[in-house]
Amino acid sequence: MIRVAIDGPAGVGKSSTAKELARHFGFAYLDTGAMYRACAWWCLHQGIDLDAAQIDEQQITETVGEFFTEDHFDISVDPDRPIVLADGEDISEDIRSSEVSTHVSRVSGIIPVRHVLIAAQRAYIAREASGDSFSQGRGIVAEGRDITTVVAPDAEVRVLLTAREEVRQARRSGQSAHGVGAEDVAKRDRMDSKVASFLTAADGVVTLDNSDLTFEQTLDQLIALVDQAIEE
Ligand code: C5P
Repeated sequence: MIRVAIDGPAGVGKSSTAKELARHFGFAYLDTGAMYRACAWWCLHQGIDLDAAQIDEQQITETVGEFFTEDHFDISVDPDRPIVLADGEDISEDIRSSEVSTHVSRVSGIIPVRHVLIAAQRAYIAREASGDSFSQGRGIVAEGRDITTVVAPDAEVRVLLTAREEVRQARRSGQSAHGVGAEDVAKRDRMDSKVASFLTAADGVVTLDNSDLTFEQTLDQLIALVDQAIEE
């Protein structure tokens, strides 16, 4: 069982690269950002005011807790079909809306919320070790902001994917056809880095700056790292 942890800032191309890496090896794929986005979407859907100067952290924590414990939430770890469900409804598109993007950091910045999500993410990763899991025990690629440091610091492969800010901004703007729209990635990173340290690599984490690399070149480097871990 190989666990691949990939962290990095917004707009660096983590999701597409991690998904393709998982496909290449027949691994499961866990988009932890999608889990935080689903929580923000759920809170907005429940009528919680995420714009308030002082958000109600306790109410948000309880709402997110129920989202998981009462089984409203589900995510597929199939990299070919990474859908997110809330009460059986496919919300994969909705969680990419600019409304969710601009509010998600407020939800993910609440420490007790993070504890709920970290436990859920560890459970998805642990489940992949069993033979009747999606990858049949082969492995999982999990990507986010605190996977290499908090969720799976003992992962066999740990990578910080990074790129210069103007490159990330341009890539994010280029995604507007998918409804994401140009977005101030620097602002989101500033908020996110208060609760997760993904701007510099922790000890033992490989830094991969893909500012001047093509998608294929980035993928090839990641494949080489996983091949090396499989050999070891
Ligand atoms: O990866 P993505 O940009 O979709 O993540 C959305 C948001 O989820 C981030 O801006 C951050 O607030 C939160 N997040 C997090 N920890 C993770 C993954 C995402 O706080 N491991």
